Amino acid sequence: MRAETKQLLKKYKLSSFGAKKDIVRVEQLVLPGEELLYIGGTVITISNVRAEEKYEVSGAMFISDRRILFHASNSAIANHAARVKRGRSKSDEMPRGGVWEFGMADIHSIGGEGNGLSAGSVSFSTLEGRFDFTVSYHALVIEQVRTLIVDAAINAQGRIPKEVAEDDNEQSTNQKRAVTVVTCSSCAASNIVRVGEVSVCEYCRSYVGGTTI
Ligand SMILES: [Zn+2]
Repeated sequence: MRAETKQLLKKYKLSSFGAKKDIVRVEQLVLPGEELLYIGGTVITISNVRAEEKYEVSGAMFISDRRILFHASNSAIANHAARVKRGRSKSDEMPRGGVWEFGMADIHSIGGEGNGLSAGSVSFSTLEGRFDFTVSYHALVIEQVRTLIVDAAINAQGRIPKEVAEDDNEQSTNQKRAVTVVTCSSCAASNIVRVGEVSVCEYCRSYVGGTTI
């Protein structure tokens, strides 16, 4: 296990007990130049947008400045394969190799207190669905992990995609897209919205406006 990984496990009060293999495997997927922000064993609950279907799987994950990557454990992949074989599971639930990857720029809501989170978990949403993953039970750590996703997501969203910058004028190349984080007044989720636009909270469907900078 890398020294950097050990430091992060300590920082976020996580034990590698029983998850060492999974953590070592996921740390190998960090790319050169990618800034590792969080890593650890976890159980991730995947829900579709309307939360009608849920799918829970164990493994390890990391959060970097670019993405959140989850790698299912061998046993989770094997169990899934067995369920598919018995015809009890949809084959599309587990991606090839058991890896789920979420680009930071695709994350538009990060769960807060009071929106149905179980203790010791953090949640984020993309257009594909909602993802809840277990972290340490320490309240401070939960808030730290939540905040690091909010910061990384807003940094990633603020980067104008290259092709857009080129279509515009050159001076906008380093200009950031005006996005802001709005805390939902109903459920405390963090929603990333464009300045001046009104959006809907991913978690409770309340209106949130990006009018403050
Ligand atoms: Zn809300």
